Amino acid sequence: MAWNFAAGPARLPDAVLAQAGALFRRSDDGACTIERPFSGPRFRAVLANARQRLAELLDLPSNYRILFMAGGAMQQFALLPMNLARAGQAVAYADSGYWSRRARQEAGWSGPLIEAARHPGATALTAPVAGKWALPADCAYCHITPNETADGIAYPALPDTGAVPLVADCTSALLLAPLAVEKFGLIYASAQKNIGPAGLCVVIVREDLLERSPVALPAVFSYRQQAEAGSCVNTPPMLALEMAALVFEWIAGQGGLPAMAAANQKKAALLYGAIDGSRGFYQAPVEAVHRSPVNVRFQLAADALTERFIEQAAAAGLQHLRGHPQVGGLRASLYNAMPLAGVAALVDFMADFARRHG
Ligand code: PMP
Repeated sequence: MAWNFAAGPARLPDAVLAQAGALFRRSDDGACTIERPFSGPRFRAVLANARQRLAELLDLPSNYRILFMAGGAMQQFALLPMNLARAGQAVAYADSGYWSRRARQEAGWSGPLIEAARHPGATALTAPVAGKWALPADCAYCHITPNETADGIAYPALPDTGAVPLVADCTSALLLAPLAVEKFGLIYASAQKNIGPAGLCVVIVREDLLERSPVALPAVFSYRQQAEAGSCVNTPPMLALEMAALVFEWIAGQGGLPAMAAANQKKAALLYGAIDGSRGFYQAPVEAVHRSPVNVRFQLAADALTERFIEQAAAAGLQHLRGHPQVGGLRASLYNAMPLAGVAALVDFMADFARRHG
């Protein structure tokens, strides 16, 4: 038995992989899902189903729209200022680590950049303090990364940005737990961590913000035009969408987001407990209340053993535990599809490795 702890693309639920084969079987019209026109009724039904299931999982307020867009979260880094900010209007970004900085870099061309808040210290070991953030009233939006996939940091609470819409990169956070969507102007998440195959990005946007998309913006980049066209300005990533719908169904069948949250808390507690209980052999550098529940970052006190740990873990069937290249160390990603048994196998291996090398 091998367990995949990759940060994304990441493990999908077994039940979804088992169902996915049927997507390649031709039906009475001589076509399978990905061979049909995307404008036809069959694919429109798939799209409507995916949208409805996601809305149900999130208990989506009626003034929010779901867009299914092609491409990843980095496309959204670029599309955010194009759609939400007027030329020269200030945009605000909080620095919580690697991915929030990447998002900010991609917005730099649009106008003045405001640093809304930052983690204290030279390297990110906590999220910024989530109090009331002072922002100019004419700021287009304030961007946060609630879960930093590389740094293993999660905001314990959301900041108060007043009238400035809060925009969140939830790529490694969406569908892990219930979410107060009404606190956000816009949320986006690329699929390949917790939703389905890469190539799809979910964008959830408050309706009033759609009016901001400039008329001159090319149609495929425009949130307003994508919303008007039901995410079908052009061919959507059909296979990824079909699989995402299966993932939404799977989550609902498990008990929805409260059940996901309970399972995720249990997994995180098991792994962080093993790290904290190792008498310093393993260390989790992120401050306890800011630790990501799903991207568990840790390191060995004896750094020279890191390569041996990764090698022996892989030989024991525990795969992809190397930390993000910009951060180093080790990382185990435990999204919804990782069962407790996978985390238990990792914890057993860690105890054994510590006995042999301690
Ligand atoms: N934001 C976060 C938080 C991420 O973890 C990632 C991918 N690791 C990205 C953005 C980039 O996503 P994509 O490769 O889909 O553009």
